[in-house]
Amino acid sequence: MQLSSPRLRAALLAAASLTLVAAVLPPPKPLGIGDRLFPELGNPGYDVLSYDLSLTYKDNRTPLDAVTAIEARALAPLERINLDFTHGTVASAQVNGEPARFESAGEDLVLTPAHPVAANTPLRITVRHSSDPRGSADGGWVTTEDGLAMANQADAAHRVFPCNDHPADKAYFTFRITAPEGYTAVANGLPGALPAARAAGATEWTYRTLHPMATELAQVSIGRSAVLHRTGPHGLPLRDVVPAADRERLEPWLLKTAGHIEWMEQRVGRYPFENYGVLIARARTGFELETQTLSLFENGLFAGEAEGYPEWYVEAVMVHELAHQWFGDSVTPRTWSDLWLNEGHATWYEALYADGLGKYSLDRRMREAYQRSDQWRAAGGPPAAPKAAAPGQKIGLFRPVVYDGAALILYALREEIGTAAFDRVERRWVAEHKDATAGTEDFVRLASQEAGRDLTAFLRPWLYGEKTPPMPGHPDWSAPVKQKAAPGTAGKTAPGTAPKPAPAQEADGKTV
Ligand SMILES: [Zn+2]
Repeated sequence: MQLSSPRLRAALLAAASLTLVAAVLPPPKPLGIGDRLFPELGNPGYDVLSYDLSLTYKDNRTPLDAVTAIEARALAPLERINLDFTHGTVASAQVNGEPARFESAGEDLVLTPAHPVAANTPLRITVRHSSDPRGSADGGWVTTEDGLAMANQADAAHRVFPCNDHPADKAYFTFRITAPEGYTAVANGLPGALPAARAAGATEWTYRTLHPMATELAQVSIGRSAVLHRTGPHGLPLRDVVPAADRERLEPWLLKTAGHIEWMEQRVGRYPFENYGVLIARARTGFELETQTLSLFENGLFAGEAEGYPEWYVEAVMVHELAHQWFGDSVTPRTWSDLWLNEGHATWYEALYADGLGKYSLDRRMREAYQRSDQWRAAGGPPAAPKAAAPGQKIGLFRPVVYDGAALILYALREEIGTAAFDRVERRWVAEHKDATAGTEDFVRLASQEAGRDLTAFLRPWLYGEKTPPMPGHPDWSAPVKQKAAPGTAGKTAPGTAPKPAPAQEADGKTV
């Protein structure tokens, strides 16, 4: 029998293929890209090119209405498409303009398109969903006194929106945020259009990134905010977002950023993005975060000496987040085991800045780190092969071994190859991997090139050893002191008597 109507035939074939899909495909399951520390993070088979994220905010008790539109490219034939997503309800999904079936499997949202997607073809995904800011202690949305901010590192972007939640898949972002009258919404990148009036007195704000970004670095701030614009080195637009009520008090801190950027540029080269600024939130997060072009800080950090935060320490933390814009944001880690490349470098420039202020010398900080290094390695694993976080401890990966324990590797490298070669490594690292991802082996290769000899045998024990190798140039450091301090209290110092401990070592678990 031949079907005479092409429309009928098409309908029947579509129905048959749906039946076939239903009959053949096994139950959906969460997938990952094989990250040792987060096995189900990211998804195989496609490359995301851009996210277009629309969010409508009402208040902190109500899930936001959201539409996530993804432009991607299929890398393999796909009968199913896994996205990472949890903490929201999905209303509908489309793949290449046609409705797709959707199911949850673990923390994955699994789409079954009406027609399998061929390899090397464009893949357009639209998901209508909610994004729930409540119960966000494990990351994603951060509730502030006057609205919301975002803190997705390491694995929490998919608590906000469906995505390929791994830094190995960077993409461009557009944000369209609608918020009620009186609120201001800001996101990574530059304003894409003037704020536009929407129904019921609400306003829509649009932002676009001009550089690709990892999902963990996305930032959306909604609050009673003041947005302050000024100009940094070579005309770089600076944009700070602070609670409107705190604007005057914070102004002296905001004025410091331009100088910090100049200081970093002298050491590693041009700032890598379209703009920069700090987002200071009325929230207690226990951490600061290098969200791309707009680093997130807790208000309390700027509360002054009385609260235990001397000026030099606060500035060093600001430089830490700024340094991440090069190390971690522009150059993102290929796997989460490469986290030491983010935190080791950010800690390095933080320590170097404090050294320059004459408050806490780099040599002293590194000598103290060296004494604790074996203990840190025992607790957290080697810097380039850290132990996974304990279940439910979102920031458990951010242990001293990837901060000062990793800065120690850079110190050892500088001692081994000399300051001039080390500086060339740093500059080439951020220039050659700009807007891309890179891993530990890339760093070893680059360091070897600049040293003019293979540094694998030298760096391997520093990166992967259970014990800390001898420090070149400091034979007197060669016997790490065995300490009995409880984990997390190792760096605690009485306020006012000695330099504030390195941020990663603070007793309250503050990480940067
Ligand atoms: Zn950091």
